[in-house]
Amino acid sequence: MIDLGILKGSSFVVLGLARSGLATGRALKAAGIDCICWDDNAASRDAAAKAGLNVADPTDIDWSRITALVISPGIPSTFPKPHPVAAAARAAGKPIICDVELLARAQDKARFIAITGTNGKSTTTALIGHILTEAGVRCEVGGNIGRGALDLAPLSEGGLYVLELSSYQLELLETFHAHVAVWLNITPDHIDRHGDLAGYVAAKENVFARQQARDCAVIGVDDQPSRAVYAKLVKRGIAAVPVKLETPVAGGISYRAGMLVDADGYKVDFADVPTLPGDHNAQNAACAWAACRWLGVPRERIVAGLATYPGLPHRQERVASVGNVVYINDSKATNADATARALSSYHDIYWILGGQAKEGGVAPLAPWFERIRHAFLIGEATELFAGQLEGKIAYSRCGDLKSALDAAHASAQREAPQLSGGGPAVVLLSPACASWDQWKSYEHRGDAFRAMARALPGAQVLGRAA
Ligand code: ADP
Repeated sequence: MIDLGILKGSSFVVLGLARSGLATGRALKAAGIDCICWDDNAASRDAAAKAGLNVADPTDIDWSRITALVISPGIPSTFPKPHPVAAAARAAGKPIICDVELLARAQDKARFIAITGTNGKSTTTALIGHILTEAGVRCEVGGNIGRGALDLAPLSEGGLYVLELSSYQLELLETFHAHVAVWLNITPDHIDRHGDLAGYVAAKENVFARQQARDCAVIGVDDQPSRAVYAKLVKRGIAAVPVKLETPVAGGISYRAGMLVDADGYKVDFADVPTLPGDHNAQNAACAWAACRWLGVPRERIVAGLATYPGLPHRQERVASVGNVVYINDSKATNADATARALSSYHDIYWILGGQAKEGGVAPLAPWFERIRHAFLIGEATELFAGQLEGKIAYSRCGDLKSALDAAHASAQREAPQLSGGGPAVVLLSPACASWDQWKSYEHRGDAFRAMARALPGAQVLGRAA
């Protein structure tokens, strides 16, 4: 836990008592700092009260004695409508911040690597953490992934925090300064919370706020909004490293499916690393490379880190193999965009999909249909998807995940020896759907798939034991 003793004499309101809010309340209490905690959910309030926190409704308190509101990033403080407590704080002229800001204030001698972007944040954060750890550099990894900011261990002077930061967290920072800021990409997302695309980009641009010429900015420039942000950084005199698909870019890094080319032409081939398939992961790897190079990690240590990256659960996670067929858990793919990344990474795919459909369904995935040997439909989306696949690829209605896996397994084992797609055949759970019709969460669905795949007759376990 982070020692917040440096903030003694301040008073805070903590709004939102899930993982990060509870950790904030605990850290403030441990440091003997006055704080009022609140959550609209009664069960969360009870849990906080049980942890000994001071739980009270802060809407009508005397805000003049409060230093700041520490809000959970999931709670709106502006769009679509500020939470009443956020509105009260703003009316009193009080700053609205998040736990990452408290971490920055308490660990003011540490260095921070901040990773943001619409997609690939968790992967890149975990990858940077893995490379640094393998290279013998002590670091703490957290933020929007794994442990919350104030649950991380304190580091001595010069220690490194590797933090995944969402747009919601980034707009709640006041003094936080990223020594290395990594920006992966931008596509429209979370518009309800930011008003419009410009608001979303502006929130994310806070990752570069307070950076100085001696700091490092790494930025993927494959999309137009990111290129505009890069141009602004260059104008500000920040030594930004551009990262770009395919074509070499001056002073930057280019990448393509398992291959990256450094600014001086040095090439790294990691095509054989099964945990980083596809162009999207090459973008993540290239950004991680740039960050670690700037931190002085020798090239061969980064190459070794890439080669041993274990991957994250539920993101194209190789969980088992039976003969020449690999079973892949991509349960995190809850929309067509994410599923497209997985489909583009394999040939000869036995595809399990379905759940609660998103707008557009699977129609945007047509460019990859030729790679699919058979589709196995589950959940609420079955009839919608059957209509969209009709006449394009063979499909079966399976109802639930277990029936779909059994059917996909039988087909793949029967046909795989005759296939020649250039890689192993895959049974891929990449649902392009939310999980809530049949599961508690995408993690619940993915954990079940992993367990079922590993229980198949003759299955060899791949990846981590989880
Ligand atoms: P995030 O933390 O930003 O949600 P993750 O690393 O958890 O990102 O990856 C989630 C999904 O996003 C992956 O399963 C993959 O489908 C897709 N993805 C990962 N990296 C990228 C990238 N660089 N560009 C586009 N899509 C990506």
